[in-house]
Amino acid sequence: MEQRIREIGHELFRAAHTAQRGWPTRRWVANWFLQLSMRDELVKTELFRFVDLLPALRTPTDVNEHVRECLVRVRNRLPAPLAGAVAFWPQVGWLGEISAAFVCRSVEQLARRFIPAPDTGTVAAVASQLRHRGLAVTVDLLGEAVLAEAEALAYQQRYLALIDQLTTALAVVPEVSRLDCDQHGSIPRVNISLKLSSLFSQFDPIAPTETSAAVRDRLRPILRFAKARHAFVNFDMEHFAYKELIFRIFRDVLTETEFRDWADVGIAVQAYLRETAADLDWLCRWAEQRGTPVWVRLVKGAYWDYEIAVAVQHGWIPPVFTEKSETDAAYETATAFLIENHETLQPAFATHNIRTIAAALALAERHRLPPLSFEFQMLYGMAEPIQTALVNNGQRVRLYTPVGELLPGMAYFVRRLLENTSNQSFLRASFLEHLPEEELLMKPTHSVSSTLPTTAEPFHNEPIADFSRPETRAAMQAALTKVSTAVERDYPIVIGGQRIETGQWLESRDPSHRQRLVGRAARATVQQIQSAVTTAGDAFVTWRNTSPAERADLLRRVATIIRRRRFELAAWEIVECGKPWREADADVCEAIDFCEFYAADMLRLAVPRRSDMPGETNVSVVEPRGVAVVIAPWNFPLAILAGMTSAAIVTGNTVIMKPAEQSPIIAAHLMKIFEEAGLPAGVVNYLPGVGAEIGPALVQHPAVALIVFTGSRAVGVAIQQLAAAMPPGQTHLKHVICEMGGKNAIIVDDDADLDEATRGVTASAFGYAGQKYSACSRVIVLDSVYEAFLTRLVEAARSLRLAPADDPDCGVGPVIDAEARERILVQLEQAKRVARLVLAATPGSLADEGWFVGPHIFADVPPKSALAQEEIFGPVLAVLQARNFDEALRLANGTVYALTGGLYSRRPDHIDQARREFRVGNLYINRKITGAVVARQPFGGFKLSGSGSKAGGPDYLPQFVWSRTITENTMRHGFIPPANSDRVGEEGVSSHAKHISTVRLKTG
Ligand SMILES: Cc1cc2nc3c(=O)[nH]c(=O)nc-3n(C[C@H](O)[C@H](O)[C@H](O)COP(=O)(O)OP(=O)(O)OC[C@H]3O[C@@H](n4cnc5c(N)ncnc54)[C@H](O)[C@@H]3O)c2cc1C
Repeated sequence: MEQRIREIGHELFRAAHTAQRGWPTRRWVANWFLQLSMRDELVKTELFRFVDLLPALRTPTDVNEHVRECLVRVRNRLPAPLAGAVAFWPQVGWLGEISAAFVCRSVEQLARRFIPAPDTGTVAAVASQLRHRGLAVTVDLLGEAVLAEAEALAYQQRYLALIDQLTTALAVVPEVSRLDCDQHGSIPRVNISLKLSSLFSQFDPIAPTETSAAVRDRLRPILRFAKARHAFVNFDMEHFAYKELIFRIFRDVLTETEFRDWADVGIAVQAYLRETAADLDWLCRWAEQRGTPVWVRLVKGAYWDYEIAVAVQHGWIPPVFTEKSETDAAYETATAFLIENHETLQPAFATHNIRTIAAALALAERHRLPPLSFEFQMLYGMAEPIQTALVNNGQRVRLYTPVGELLPGMAYFVRRLLENTSNQSFLRASFLEHLPEEELLMKPTHSVSSTLPTTAEPFHNEPIADFSRPETRAAMQAALTKVSTAVERDYPIVIGGQRIETGQWLESRDPSHRQRLVGRAARATVQQIQSAVTTAGDAFVTWRNTSPAERADLLRRVATIIRRRRFELAAWEIVECGKPWREADADVCEAIDFCEFYAADMLRLAVPRRSDMPGETNVSVVEPRGVAVVIAPWNFPLAILAGMTSAAIVTGNTVIMKPAEQSPIIAAHLMKIFEEAGLPAGVVNYLPGVGAEIGPALVQHPAVALIVFTGSRAVGVAIQQLAAAMPPGQTHLKHVICEMGGKNAIIVDDDADLDEATRGVTASAFGYAGQKYSACSRVIVLDSVYEAFLTRLVEAARSLRLAPADDPDCGVGPVIDAEARERILVQLEQAKRVARLVLAATPGSLADEGWFVGPHIFADVPPKSALAQEEIFGPVLAVLQARNFDEALRLANGTVYALTGGLYSRRPDHIDQARREFRVGNLYINRKITGAVVARQPFGGFKLSGSGSKAGGPDYLPQFVWSRTITENTMRHGFIPPANSDRVGEEGVSSHAKHISTVRLKTG
């Protein structure tokens, strides 16, 4: 078999080289561009970035500025003539116009190499030309990312129009039997490829049943029309996260009675996925049951870099192979499977790799498959000599032919550029680098690699749940069921390990279903404050002498228990705080991260810092401050509470944990986890109560050393004032760690990727109904893109589904309680007086069920108005217009807050300027501004957003300790002991720190 594959491979190489010699050389710009990109990865990055943004540029000056900004960074790496040209690149005037026109023309020429038809009107002509060259087509409509229902409907209509035009046009062309028939008779002349995710703006694997139903509603008219017009429909395969859902929709719709006997349908299957063998097996059994065959387009997969990046960022095992040869080998295994089952799964081999093609041909030959019972497919503009070689060999070759303008087609175009220039690409290796044929035809092997490289870092983020997996969704559903049977219980106060009831209760209700009582927490009074502070003070004496290593171990045990109960805790967040599934899961993961990060960081902090001189030792050590009061918010009910508390205890403080009135039940579960982990009684005390009743007394208590607060600005400022007072008996200054709100802005620059900006702003503004400190509440848009962006934003926000949080496809859930809802409604009324209301989504019947407020967007917002200046803790977004980038930055910085900020821009100079001048605690560029991850994005703001500290970063724990420095003169009559002599016998960090603590205890 191997020998035959090589024979066929060599024949194909010969035929392709002959074809290549006859191929026109008019594409010199394109080839030069590709060569340049391959020489240097940095040059490639800048070139591709430039190409990506070019269609968004409006004037020749814009184009020239971007050429200079992008290429000036890599000038030294460019060939001499180009480097010189960049240095003197004309910006304006007639020379500027000519150079801009030349650049645009060249990129367009390059793009048109892969995207031949700008609109559906021209595609029939392209298809006819290709038929003359002996090539069939499958047509794909390129489009902007579908973020709104209006866009999804438009996509559906475009496909209906495409089928109409193509079937009409191709009905009259002469039949070419190789293209229009298979072994059984005629096959459709018109073949279209579509992406299911474009048919529904809320396409989400977290809710497969709902998504499948919505997509099928849009899909049926297309399939019905295609069937009636004898056209073929192929379902493209997209990211791995969508795979199961795409298979499901394919199965669901094609088992419906009206489509059950229809054979002119197919689906792409990606060989680079480890699950592909199992998927093919399933597909084959399903098609047998259906009783009508389907086509399978076998591809290797177009999203390899993306899948790897997503897996690494989330800490997941990558779903794709990590060695190219494994993908190639898997492709050949899948080829064999398809050939064996070709009557059920009709094979279309989509590849440009001669070895892969040769293997398919050799296998087909061995199984004596009729030549037209399978086909090869390639991408328009790729591997043309191989296309010709196969056509001349009598094969049916179909070209995937995308249709569209350059702006919406950019993602497709950049994927093709990457594919052509990738180090691993067969085309690069064969036609551009001319590797020996023998090497290119080698049998691909399955290696044993395929794991992510691991690092020796002491801390790793907890991987968030992948809700595209059925087992993960089932786990969350089971946890919700379990929690629903555990509601309506009572949770007493815990002081020194004792359970205390006060006879008064805080009722916690589900914001999505306000009739549901989640539980009751005992309501603390001033009486319990004294007892809690005394108990925590007593526990401090022993706890501060516990070694940092032991304290860190304890936190790790806490993290382990949270991890074990992760879905259950997330379910509690869903019912108690109205957090949608993903947000709840992320909060639990963050709680785990905080515990493990602070555990690791404590060991670093506990290492005494030495600065010895001959005859003098200097050692600086840290020690805990004392009793800490932790006052936590409800919007990150586990993560922030666990984070603030774990930082306090790992540094040796003891804690009175006062959760928000709205989330005492989750806090009670955390308390139990601390106990289960073995925390000594009294080190953490659980004191639920009404903030206004017990908060001031806690803060003012003279024995409290530290207040750790996250919440509103009003309360934060009041705490600062109360803590500054000196009640009688207080012997220290209180330290306040204070995190407050924000009026966070995202700037949308005039060259921003509007797909990405719309997606990012929508997620940042309306995720968790805007109830995050980091949420986007202002978006500042440059004049030239203002209307275009606003239109897309409004439609995208309108398409979000308002639903109870326990519903997996909840896009926007409820706000936390009745009071919050009332406050937002009042603010909305005030806002209507100063700005143009462009979206007011109403909750409809949900208003009777829970505390819902739909997304609201105001346009033309005056920068000084309350709407642009004051925090609204809800799904309300203010849109402001800016004349230029400097003004946008001024507006962004023009509030009393400085927490998060964002920028969507592709202009390197503006990105640099924002890095310097957009003064916020956390600045995000070209991504959403919520969802900070522990250690990667230490989180916290300044001005009136906070005290400038960063939770989840290395400067957080030092705020929980005093620092002491001990200096000893070791010189005796001129005798100087050797350096380090006092460290002999140290057991390391913990014993030294313990020693220092003990010294302090003895000396008072
Ligand atoms: C008609 C047609 C339709 C297509 N439809 C789809 C579709 O619906 N969905 C889709 O995802 N793609 C689709 N593609 C794109 C296709 O996946 C790529 O064109 C294809 O992967 C290129 O493979 P090749 O055999 O031509 O090239 P080769 O150079 O032999 O293979 C390149 C491929 O190898 C894989 N690879 C690269 N590096 C590694 C690595 N380190 N470890 C493991 N694997 C690696 C990647 O899949 C990469 O694309 C389609 C292609 C065609 C021709």
